[in-house]
Amino acid sequence: MSVSAEPPTKAPARELEDLDRKYVVHPHHRAEREERHVIVRGKGSTVWDAEGTEYLDAMGSANWMAQVGHARSELVEAAAKQMSELEYFTAFDVYTNEASIRLAERIAKLAPPDIDRVFFTNGGSEGNDTAFKAARLFHFRRGEPDRTWILSRELAYHGCTYGSGAASGFPPVHHGFGPHMPNVERITPPLPFHTEFFDGQDPTDFLVNELEQTIERIGAENIAAMIGEPVMGGAGVVPPPDDYWPRVREVLRANGILLIADEVVTSYGRTGSWFESDSRGMDADIIVTSKGLTSGYQPLGAVLMRNEIADVITGDEGFFHGHTYSGHPVACAVAMANLDLIEQEGLREKAKEIGEWFREDLAPLRDVPTVAEVRIAGATIGVELVADRESRQPLLMGAGAVSAELRQKHRVILRDYNATLCLAPPLIIERSQVRQITEAIVEVVSRLNADETLSPS
Ligand code: PLP
Repeated sequence: MSVSAEPPTKAPARELEDLDRKYVVHPHHRAEREERHVIVRGKGSTVWDAEGTEYLDAMGSANWMAQVGHARSELVEAAAKQMSELEYFTAFDVYTNEASIRLAERIAKLAPPDIDRVFFTNGGSEGNDTAFKAARLFHFRRGEPDRTWILSRELAYHGCTYGSGAASGFPPVHHGFGPHMPNVERITPPLPFHTEFFDGQDPTDFLVNELEQTIERIGAENIAAMIGEPVMGGAGVVPPPDDYWPRVREVLRANGILLIADEVVTSYGRTGSWFESDSRGMDADIIVTSKGLTSGYQPLGAVLMRNEIADVITGDEGFFHGHTYSGHPVACAVAMANLDLIEQEGLREKAKEIGEWFREDLAPLRDVPTVAEVRIAGATIGVELVADRESRQPLLMGAGAVSAELRQKHRVILRDYNATLCLAPPLIIERSQVRQITEAIVEVVSRLNADETLSPS
């Protein structure tokens, strides 16, 4: 089965946009945004909308994925093969299927030692809720039922379900939706550029001290787990100081608190490793993954856990948690084909190379006063925009304006999170395409003024 590289024929774009406005309730959408892009087709690092306009996908389907690129026939074939044999059968109770068994085994072999057990979800939010429930149940079954609190960090995005939304440090996912899951405490994120967060201290010293004080205030005996991304994505691509995770880990271990690594963005090659938590010294007890597991070809997430945790939560009265589509055979078969490509095409190594291409090409931004800093972790890139580097006042509207200009003028798709432009291109992207993206970014960002306006080109 082959997928042609031909651009799409013109579809009734206007009509689709109107129907969309009329019938579709959009996820994560602000009412004032009337603009619509009906994406009809992709190939490699390029996508086309219904008008036939071509865009460079600098943000992995605008959602931190597309590791192997768009329209890979290998994944299409894997889905068709599985569907023709067994499209679905429940994984509840005593039933299972070969695709999910093989995938769980493969993930366990890639995972750090002692993490051999996998629970499948449909995505990241469900994965984080699963991790919270697993952590609480683990303590409950071991005779510590008061360990219910979850520690997380401001600016983090962990999803928008009841638990993951409460843990997220994004005000819009809280506003008007209360009451939220109780017993969640958010602490300061490790964003060294924002020295105002750290009271003049070394960022890690400040953050570890804050963590210790928080544990003392709530009581270690009441805390189930802390959740954190190895490198925060939605906070604006934030690699923490090198000593941050090892020191946090030490404090948590000393207090019997589990550590959940939210690797929904950072796993399966995105930042250059299978699991970034491993490279950052997190030594996590539970690792939550999704996105890159199928490169977005199927909705699938995997929650990896230490054997001891799995033994405890599946023992006794069992683990009464799960979704109709947990361990969906088609999604699992596609994930296997996707991991094959990541491995065969050396995409973990390629992610690091892509990061270096961006570092080189975005060097001119150092001289642009409205750029706070460029942060890179493998093939995730963040460009934070501020009125000036002294005040560090975020250019929230400015980031939106830059992102829109890049889309409308240069046909480059990225995302603005608060005041940071975020990029996570497919890992098969070519050098020339990265040049095109970075030239466009430098051109537009250089026109951004401290008052959030863009000077004419
Ligand atoms: N965790 C992180 C770090 C994410 O970036 C996201 C989504 O972007 C989620 C969790 C939520 O995943 P989902 O949208 O699949 O529920």
